[in-house]
Amino acid sequence: MSNPSPQRSPRHAGGCQCGAVRFAVYGDPIKIGICHCRMCQKAVAGPFAVLAEVPKQQFAWTRGAPAAFQSSSRALRDFCAACGTPLSYRHPGGPIIELLTGAFDQPDRVPPGYAVGTESMLAWLAEIAALPGKTTSANLGPVPTEVVSFQHPDHDTEPNWRPPWTGPPAR
Ligand SMILES: [Zn+2]
Ligand SMILES: [Zn+2]
Repeated sequence: MSNPSPQRSPRHAGGCQCGAVRFAVYGDPIKIGICHCRMCQKAVAGPFAVLAEVPKQQFAWTRGAPAAFQSSSRALRDFCAACGTPLSYRHPGGPIIELLTGAFDQPDRVPPGYAVGTESMLAWLAEIAALPGKTTSANLGPVPTEVVSFQHPDHDTEPNWRPPWTGPPAR
């Protein structure tokens, strides 16, 4: 994978929940799709994966580096070893990296255009737009002032960025 280049300005950026791993994309994805396959369900521990295909030449890890799990004889799935966020799918030595769009800083800018693995699509997905819903504040009320988010913000930060740590981890 190429190193970050100061001559190029990213079209998209993103990273894991804790901020240890960040990436940049220097063009628009080739294509963006939903994968309903059982391996993607398991890899994201969710109902499906949304993957944006990017040429590795237009991609760089800009902070840290992910760990990888080899999920099959031809595929690796990258994730943050510090916080566990799934980040990407790729074939070793191949020209493409597929990035999970939920990790992008602006996931609404990378909408899917097709679906694959539809034999494994969960039946209840067809109903989700009709489920009763509430905003977070309507659901939980105002966030108590003592609650502090440790999630990395949705933009690049200084290399020494750390969450606003207030004490030992809860157990
Ligand atoms: Zn992380
Ligand atoms: Zn899949």
